[in-house]
Parts: sequence; C-alpha cells; structure tokens
Amino acid sequence: GPTANIRNFSIIAHVDHGKSTLADRILERLGAMGERDKRDQTLDTLELERERGITIKSTPIRLNYRRENGEEYVFNLIDTPGHVDFNYEVSRSLAACEGVLLLVDASQGVEAQTIVNAYLAIDNNLEIIPVVNKIDLPAADPEGAAQELEEVIGIPAEDAVFASGKAGLGIPEILEAIVERIPPPPGDPQAPLKALIFDSFYDAYQGVILFVRVLEGTLTPKQPIMLFGTGKTFEVDKVGTFTPGLVVGDSLPAGTVGWVAAGIKDIHDAQVGDTITQKDRPTPEPFPGFKPAQPVVFSGLYPTSTEEYRKLRDALEKLKLNDAAFTFEPETSEALGFGFRCGFLGLLHAEIVQERLEREFDLDLIATAPAVVYRVTLTNGDVFETQNPAEFPTRDRIDMVEEPYIKLSIMQPEEYVGPVMQLLQERRGSMVTMNYVGKRVELIYEVPFAEILYDFHDRLKSISRGYASMDYEQIGYREGDLRKVDIQVNNEVVDALAVIVHEDKAYSLGRKIVDKMAEVIPRQMFPVPVQATIGGKIIARATVKAYRKDVLAKCYGGDITRKKKLLEKQKKGRARMKQIGTVEVPQEAFLAVLSTD
Ligand code: GDP
Ligand code: MG
Repeated sequence: GPTANIRNFSIIAHVDHGKSTLADRILERLGAMGERDKRDQTLDTLELERERGITIKSTPIRLNYRRENGEEYVFNLIDTPGHVDFNYEVSRSLAACEGVLLLVDASQGVEAQTIVNAYLAIDNNLEIIPVVNKIDLPAADPEGAAQELEEVIGIPAEDAVFASGKAGLGIPEILEAIVERIPPPPGDPQAPLKALIFDSFYDAYQGVILFVRVLEGTLTPKQPIMLFGTGKTFEVDKVGTFTPGLVVGDSLPAGTVGWVAAGIKDIHDAQVGDTITQKDRPTPEPFPGFKPAQPVVFSGLYPTSTEEYRKLRDALEKLKLNDAAFTFEPETSEALGFGFRCGFLGLLHAEIVQERLEREFDLDLIATAPAVVYRVTLTNGDVFETQNPAEFPTRDRIDMVEEPYIKLSIMQPEEYVGPVMQLLQERRGSMVTMNYVGKRVELIYEVPFAEILYDFHDRLKSISRGYASMDYEQIGYREGDLRKVDIQVNNEVVDALAVIVHEDKAYSLGRKIVDKMAEVIPRQMFPVPVQATIGGKIIARATVKAYRKDVLAKCYGGDITRKKKLLEKQKKGRARMKQIGTVEVPQEAFLAVLSTD
C-alpha cells in the first residue's frame, strides 16, 4: 500500500539507559543533524530538560532512511520520557506508533521501568525490538542483559540487537531491524479523515499547534476540519513535519506523524486525545482515545505579590496546553490570598511545572506542600474527595478516611533486600511477592502513596548505594487512621501549612515541621512561637528567637558597601517570602514537610 515505506516507532527504556543518546546517533546517521546543531541530546528541547538531563516532553521527528539496495523509507521517531511521573506521556506517544526499540543498559540489566514500559508496548500491540545498549562499558554483560529480557518479559534473547549510542555501535543493525520487524502503518489516504491528537503546544503567532498521527485520509491546508470532542470546526492553515523543528509540508497522508496549525486560539478547543476529522466528510467513529491523565498530587501555587495573580492565571493556561497532564483551579487561602490548586502526575512533575512558570513566565511563586487526594466519609453519610488539607473536616464529623495506595515494584541486588524491606515497613507497606531475576530481586509491595511522595526515592537510592530502581501504579483506596496537623505561627493557624498524616507519624512529623520552620523563618524583634496541633491540642512547639540587639547594631553601623550587600541579599530572599500577620514566612517553610535530615 501507500504506507509500505513508513515506520513509526518510539524508544522506551528505564531512565538513563541511553534513549536520548541513541536517538541522537540515529539522527546523525540519517543526516538529520547539520554540523551546526550537533550537540548532545538534540531531542531534549526544553531548557529545563537539558539542565536536568531528563526528557519531559515526547518530541517526534521525521527521518529518511535509504537501504543499501536503494529502497527509501520514512521513519517517524518519537523520544519518550523515562520517569514514572511521565508514564502518561509515554502511552500517548505509543498510540502513534507500530513498534518500539526497548533499550536495556548492558551493565545494569532489566530495571523496574524497563518492565513497566515493555508492558505498555505489549498492551498497545506494538512490535518490540530489544536493544542491549552501552556495550562499550567495561562492566557490560550484553548476553546477561538479553537473557534477563527473555526471563522477565519473555522476549527471545536471540532477538536482541547489541549497540552503543555513545560509541556508535550497532546503529545499522537497528535501522535494518526497524524496516524488517516493525510493520508499516495501516490506513487509506483516500478514506474520510481520522487523525489523533497526541500532543500540542501554544505558539504566540500561529495559535495552538497540534501534533497528530493521521490514521485515515489525508490532512491538507484549506481543509475544513472538526474536532470530535468539542464539535468545533476550523480551517487547516498549515501542516508539516518535525526535523525536530517544525517544517511546512504539502499534506499529511494516512500513516504519517506531523503537525497542524488551524488558527485555534482558544486553548480549550484543542484537547490531547481528541480525533480530528473532515467537517463535510466525517469518519464514523473517533479513535477510542487515551485514558485521560489523572493528577495524583496536588499543591497550591500562589504569586508572592497579589498583582501577579492574573499573570499567573495566563501562564497556567498557556502551560496547560503544552502539558496536558496538569490541572488547576482557583483557590483562596487566608494566609496566602488568591492562588491556584494545581494537580500533577508526581512530585518531579510538580517541581518542573513550578520551575517552568518561574522561568518561562517570570513569576515568583510560593508552593504549598504536595498532598494526595483523600476520600472522606462523614458521620452523616456524605462522601467527598479532598486534596486540600485546609479543607479537611474536623474529627467529630468524620466517620472514615481513605487514602490512595500504589503497587510498588522495586528491583535490587540480593544484598539490599533486607534494608529495602525495612524501609518499606517504615512506610506502612505490605509485601505482595518477591521474585528472583538472576542475582537480583524484584519486590512487589502495596504502600500508601503519601508514604513514597516525599523522600522515599532518595532514601531507597541511599540505602541501596544507588542500585535499587522503582516504578509504581495506582491501585485504589484503603482506609487509614489519618489526622490533620495544623500549624500555628505566632499563635495564628496558617491554613496553607496544614498537612494530613497517619496517626503513628503525627508527632514526629509535627516536630520536624516546627523545627524546620523555626530554622528558616527570619528573626523578628520579638520571639515567634511555631506550634503543631491536632484538634487544637499542641503536639510540638519551637520558637523563632528574637534578634540580639548588638547584631542589629553592627549591621547598621557597618560600612556602606557591606550594608548594601546585605540589603540586596535580603531583597532577593524576600522575593520568595509571604507576609503572614507580622511575620515573613519564606518558601522553605511551606515545604518544611519535605525537608530531609
Ligand atoms: P536517557 O535517560 O535514557 O535518555 O539516557 P541518556 O541518553 O540521557 O543517557 C544517560 C547517560 O548515559 C548519559 O550520561 C550518557 O552519556 C550515557 N550513555 C548513553 N548511551 C551510552 C552508551 O552507549 N555508552 C556509554 N558508556 N554511556 C552512554
Ligand atoms: Mg532522555
């Protein structure tokens, strides 16, 4: 058929197993990188991605491959993120593909995310090409890694291609495997249009740019289109492909991956997962669509100065288009004023959104401590969900509280099983199974999600000397003995500081929060008490000490440059402060619950 020479594929792997590096090598081999743009990790386009060395957004790219016999192929390659927070982006990308390269680091073997990603591909009926990567490393054991893939996932070891993205080994074999093993996309370019939106971003000049996989028919400029979900109609302005920059083209026939601009100005009209069809010749059925991303972690975002509220709202709207997974709605706090309650896929996602807001939109923000969604049954029988500790009802009105649980999978060498099990015990986990994979062990536990939210990953890495890896999925709600801990500053309850915590941990957590706050709140002319309370009863107390007069005097008496420096330093610090009564509370205080010590 007309798509016989097209291959749409993705690269999936555990984080750091070398996806981006291998993608670069493939791009280079296929001449997609001019000498000038030759730099590491070309597909990691966000500034933040480069700095953190992680892939957040999936970036598609179109490549031309010519076989030795002269046959020409078009490859659409989609790089995917590897962090568990972004599994949603991975599954969206996979819906646009027929196959995947499943990378495994030859020195590490199969890790927790290797397994989860492989199953995502299997669930999407994709052809899997196993690639054992980093074979240049002295510690590489390529045969061992291939054997693990067979043992754990059932992919025949002899199917593995051995490669090194860094040293450029195995690239021709990978390109041939893509042609031979991944099927061409189905689809009839003459059929009524059916295109799947798998991503989008907002461009100041062209409006919303949609990333699409055309399943049936052909997308062309001037075509009248309709979005299935909203019923809204538009006229196609431009279509094109990715190199990875946007390149304008003539048309996008069935089987291809590309972008569409259609003068869409309202960001709510363009929903990721929706199907585009032709207005006057619609396809009978939309693409079954994706499971919409479910935010699982919530936190309040407030501008440090109230004048920035509208600017923050505009920024959130723009960012939401670029990141379909996060949600926001207005909320007010007595302490912080007007802001937004935002939903995220995980803690890393929350950090990234906040950082992007501050950098790309030049905002100064205060974020409240991340919380999960609790389900509360009241004594009058009403059931409601809340992700805002400030809204948590008082004890006497509560019949039952349930919290979200996850199924956690952790892989580690045998010698760390003991300490890891102990950590899971501390986090209220219960073991489901334990599987041996060669000399390593996979532990499956059920754990309250809130227990792994803050510092779990860091602790896991440190007790296993970096050898343990983890992944998880949400498995529903279970009853728990949960309490609301209120925090008072200068004898006033600060609503935005409340946290929900298991009864067994309420005292130690209250202690940790007040100690941290007393440490980070700047000194006043008078001592400021900080208290943690449950139902009005004080469970922990600390004091922000008053200034010592002589220290102050020294500052004021000092030479002029030193005083200036001091003032400047204070001003900078002040950007991330919020005035609560007479006390200035810095960002760190709001995240005291996250502090590790
Ligand atoms: P990703 O997280 O899967 O995208 O992984 P990256 O491509 O960002 O690579 C993670 C780290 O592994 C980086 O420090 C790379 O330089 C390194 N790396 C990637 N591929 C290879 C390889 O083939 N050999 C070696 N020795 N190192 C590699
Ligand atoms: Mg990467």
